[in-house]
Amino acid sequence: MGFCLKHANNGVWYGCFSHFDKTLITHAVSTRIGGISKAPFSTLNLGLHTGDDIESVCNNRRIFCEALGIDFDSIVTAEQIHGSDVAQVFTTELGKGAKDYSEALKGVDALITNISNLPLMLFFADCVPVLLFDPINKAIGVVHAGWKGTVAKISQKTVLSMREKFGTNPGDCIVGIAPSIGPCCYEVDEYVANQFKIQFDRGDEILTPHNSKWKLNLWAANLMQLEEVGVLKENIKISGVCTSCNKELFFSYRAENGRTGRMGAVISLK
Ligand SMILES: [Zn+2]
Repeated sequence: MGFCLKHANNGVWYGCFSHFDKTLITHAVSTRIGGISKAPFSTLNLGLHTGDDIESVCNNRRIFCEALGIDFDSIVTAEQIHGSDVAQVFTTELGKGAKDYSEALKGVDALITNISNLPLMLFFADCVPVLLFDPINKAIGVVHAGWKGTVAKISQKTVLSMREKFGTNPGDCIVGIAPSIGPCCYEVDEYVANQFKIQFDRGDEILTPHNSKWKLNLWAANLMQLEEVGVLKENIKISGVCTSCNKELFFSYRAENGRTGRMGAVISLK
């Protein structure tokens, strides 16, 4: 099994990948189960910018961190603007955005670090969470890839940033592509489809004609761009779980018409 759900003692259900070394890193993707938020954010909403009660979201983040043995006050988050910029995170940024969205790292959608006990956490409702681990140089990354980030190849840029900053060899990188909207549900228009045809040599493999529109496979597009820079296919695991098909378990922006919470993807070096 590449990806499975686990149950923590405090009632939280979360997902993790079997190919990440649990002795070197902590990582997880939250579900919507185990929190305190009310509808439409029920229950484990981790997004501060959703219109939900801030105190409830902070409590949910605390509950999620507790389930994983991560220090809530230390988590570092990003503004997430559907761009493709990557930030290297340092100890001076410990706790940035943990409780206050205005303190999240500005203008970036991906975070990388090689510092231990500096948990990196991003938030999602259909967009693709990509978790990265370089076990040789002990470096990690987390990426928020919606269609704009994916077409701008943010996952690829994040690996290249890890190479530049930490000496990461892409061939050593372990990657997890977590639950997000799948090719079963993600319909896009001609404009979006064309962006992908322009940016991807094998664009026809990620687009399927559907009525007068297209179904887009964001998972394959992220896998493809990682392979382009030398990440090995056998080191990339795709959960294959669609958030829109499973909105009882995950938050889905599309399936819930934009009124919903956010799940978190977190990774931390031990
Ligand atoms: Zn689906």
